[in-house]
Amino acid sequence: MQAALRTSVRIPQAVGRRLQSTLVIAEHDNNKLTPITLNALTAAKKLGGDVSCLVAGTNCGSVVSELSKAAGISKILVADSEVLLGFLPERLAPLVTATHNQFKFTHIVAGATAQGKSLLPRVAAKLDVSPISDIVEVKSPDTFVRTIYAGNALMTLKSKDPVKVITVRGTSFEAAEVEGGSAAQEDVALGDLPTDLSQFIGQELSKSDRPELTAAKTVISGGRGMKNGENFQLLYTLADKMNAAVGASRAAVDAGYVPNDMQIGQTGKIIAPDLYIAVGISGAIQHLAGMKDSKTIVAINKDPEAPIFQVADLGLVADLFKAVPEMIEKV
Ligand SMILES: Cc1cc2nc3c(=O)[nH]c(=O)nc-3n(C[C@H](O)[C@H](O)[C@H](O)COP(=O)(O)OP(=O)(O)OC[C@H]3O[C@@H](n4cnc5c(N)ncnc54)[C@H](O)[C@@H]3O)c2cc1C
Repeated sequence: MQAALRTSVRIPQAVGRRLQSTLVIAEHDNNKLTPITLNALTAAKKLGGDVSCLVAGTNCGSVVSELSKAAGISKILVADSEVLLGFLPERLAPLVTATHNQFKFTHIVAGATAQGKSLLPRVAAKLDVSPISDIVEVKSPDTFVRTIYAGNALMTLKSKDPVKVITVRGTSFEAAEVEGGSAAQEDVALGDLPTDLSQFIGQELSKSDRPELTAAKTVISGGRGMKNGENFQLLYTLADKMNAAVGASRAAVDAGYVPNDMQIGQTGKIIAPDLYIAVGISGAIQHLAGMKDSKTIVAINKDPEAPIFQVADLGLVADLFKAVPEMIEKV
């Protein structure tokens, strides 16, 4: 009698498991990429699998050309339209979800900037998943590290959502190189974007010849100890001599000494320059959350007990109105 033949088919584990495919939302001003996009790209590459980028804007061809030089991008999806003037999140969010519905990404990633923080929670809500904010490390495609309690504790989280919607802390990932790449381009359908929810009227951007705050190698920040806005001229003079950017504490911003795009901290910008000089800043945890990853921290404060000295590599207990003019002389 012939024995019954049993055939068993072994399915390799990898088959059936969805391969990673990540969409990085490029941030830009229609002319140039915002540097954090390149940090977000590095985080995206750490997830493994395919990486596509979405460049959405108005006359943003030069950004597409710039980004196509970055290595490791398989495709650049382009949405170039007048409707996207001003990068309004009410219009960008449906565009991102429609793009996702077309390509079925496993991850959607953007920089943790004002734009990323405005856009990705809307996308996550539409996809009915939890946004994963401001990650500082990628452990695996579903496990990430982020800071909590104003940077005083690290949390490792594992997401079971089918799509991970992530913002990335720029200072925690090296910027990807903009060379060696030749990504293909593809236009994405704009569809019916809602034009009645919000309208772009205009923008007033502060112009400065100094380096951009989040990209500067040296940052000099002033706090309430500066006493008024005019005294910030001392810091601007020193900054110009050192090719530095100028930042501020929230107290200095709230007091109207300087505009709020200069604010460093938990509710301001998060930076990690090579050299951070804190002048007349006490060092509250919310301020430290924005600058404590700086390579070298120098503090000038007349109060020897000021908490800023606990994180400073070099501390000067002095009246800033004497110390800063002396520095200007010597630099
Ligand atoms: C939810 C929340 C979010 C926040 N987010 C931020 C944030 O993003 N960024 C931020 O910075 N803060 C933030 N804050 C505010 C924060 O708690 C502090 O109030 C703020 O950082 C204090 O700013 P400061 O150090 O300039 O002022 P102060 O704490 O008033 O310190 C001024 C310092 O100047 C020194 N000083 C005065 N005169 C001189 C002088 N002549 N020479 C030398 N030193 C002098 C003083 O000794 C003092 O240490 C936040 C607070 C909350 C509750």
